[in-house]
Amino acid sequence: MNIFFDVDYTLITWDYRLRPHTHDVLRRLQSEGHTVYLWSGMGKRWEVVERFALHDVIAGCFDKPLYNHVARLPELGVSVWPDYVIDDHAEPVEVFGGYHIPSPRTPLHEDDEMLRVYDHIQSHLARRTGEQEAAG
Ligand SMILES: [Mg+2]
Repeated sequence: MNIFFDVDYTLITWDYRLRPHTHDVLRRLQSEGHTVYLWSGMGKRWEVVERFALHDVIAGCFDKPLYNHVARLPELGVSVWPDYVIDDHAEPVEVFGGYHIPSPRTPLHEDDEMLRVYDHIQSHLARRTGEQEAAG
């Protein structure tokens, strides 16, 4: 799948700290054949890729549509379809499917939401496979 992560309050905190387990989970998703992108309403966040050394696990950065999500993908240059999105705002998740992640917990080291993202993706894939088998 093409997996799109929002940035602010999804991968990083208000004070620019990375959510725990991010490297581990992104590496696992990549090794399972997924392609992971960042997108943000604040633009292409290469500075976040740079700051947290995510080059090996992030395939690209895009601008995220904040309204008319599907219709605006071409004008924003989003050239791949978001199969699954992770966002602290509900709307993109309602539109594309994915995981509505709560803001990072305090203290941050106790935040295990990235592990929940991984588990949710696994059950999403299992459900999808089940539907395909039932249809097929
Ligand atoms: Mg956000």
